[in-house]
Amino acid sequence: MTSAQMYARLLASDASCNGRFFFGVQTTGIYCLPSCRARKPRRENVRFFPTVEAARAAGLRACRKCHPDDFARGADPVLEQIETLAAEVRTTPSAFADVPALVRRSGFGATRLFEFFRQHFHTTPAEYLLRARLEAAKFQLLQSDATVAEIAYTVGFETLSAFHENFRRLNGLTPASYRALRNARAFTVALPENYPLPYLKRALSRDPQSLTERLTGDTYHACVRLDGAPARIAVELRPDELRVMLPAGSATTAHALIVGLAGLTQDAPAFARLAKRLGFARLVAGRENLRISQTPSVFDGLVWAVIGQQINFAFACVLKRRLTELVSTEFADGLYAPPTPDAIARLDPAQLLPLQFSRQKADYLINVSRLVASGQLDLAALPSQSALRAERTLLAVRGLGPWSVNYLLMRSLGFLDCVPLGDTGVTSGLQTLFRLDHRPERDETVQLMRAFSPYRSLATTHLWQLDRPLP
Ligand SMILES: [Zn+2]
Repeated sequence: MTSAQMYARLLASDASCNGRFFFGVQTTGIYCLPSCRARKPRRENVRFFPTVEAARAAGLRACRKCHPDDFARGADPVLEQIETLAAEVRTTPSAFADVPALVRRSGFGATRLFEFFRQHFHTTPAEYLLRARLEAAKFQLLQSDATVAEIAYTVGFETLSAFHENFRRLNGLTPASYRALRNARAFTVALPENYPLPYLKRALSRDPQSLTERLTGDTYHACVRLDGAPARIAVELRPDELRVMLPAGSATTAHALIVGLAGLTQDAPAFARLAKRLGFARLVAGRENLRISQTPSVFDGLVWAVIGQQINFAFACVLKRRLTELVSTEFADGLYAPPTPDAIARLDPAQLLPLQFSRQKADYLINVSRLVASGQLDLAALPSQSALRAERTLLAVRGLGPWSVNYLLMRSLGFLDCVPLGDTGVTSGLQTLFRLDHRPERDETVQLMRAFSPYRSLATTHLWQLDRPLP
């Protein structure tokens, strides 16, 4: 491309040129992506660069509006190297005796590798390796007849007690109980100490008229999809444990769902320590162990992320109920099965307009459901991808903006370092927390939230509670 062509593309804010070049502005000292929406520079003040490194070498700094460095990091082949390494860890965790082995295999220094894992998987290499070992152990517990001890050593644990302790912490039951799920119709998941149960109850009853879930006293009833088929679950919420009953369906799948619902795998205590260290004890006061309750399925989260954008919560609940009534049927006890991608994909937008969906929302919802139903959007693959890859995949879908995508990353894919930009709950929470005389705009939100990295999703869930009465 000639300079004149590149200048024409930046005037047009052409996102398709992102990555092909970057431009710097001499007068402001910043460099940008071609798509940047900031005020357009005069031709004589612009210089073009092939990489962000070249722009930095020229003494420029990254624009805070278009975030050229974030883009460049994604375009970087380093991301693919990290993803390949992560895939190796997941498939053969026993090949990595410890974190130094992981560092050696990566070819990066320890510091860089640590930074990459934090950025792309929102965790540390050690934690990633630990979870990969536990996942491998769970698979073997269900598929093999090896003893628990044999499995512990096979997947790379040095002591049986470390295996038991970590297994129980992240799964809420012992390896032996997990194995027993193969034929179970009921199971119990232990909650960590000081688990803020009232907040979980609030999350589970946020739409009291929901057609798919209902909280009655201390029992949560829901119709979910286990391995594709609708199933009823009942969960008795006790201060120290969740007792789950399911008349049919796979208990191992139900267990994964319950672990997500309770947010067991999230390191809430680490965030609480960070918040206190930063002087924000009141952000976490009374709910230090608060987790982000994960949606029953990624598709449920996706439907909600599309329905909920740009409208208030109560109206979003109404639309979701109407959609469920339209495409699903009562399964048992007045509970409906959650809508499937196929059922929504078959709709015509005109069918949703009488339900008060805007034309655009109807289009978006049907479009994304068709992508899922046809396999073009593989939701099952997203949780094991890097956060950046998952974010890009989702942002490329028509109708999914930064709010929806980040909402989905934190509520359905378990990523701990996301901010749903533009979320009014986050901005009003930040206003209260920082005692601002205004609601922070996008850039200020990004800047204020930076302190909470790598736990910005957890910060978000606390901010959502900050202006609300205690449950
Ligand atoms: Zn810019």
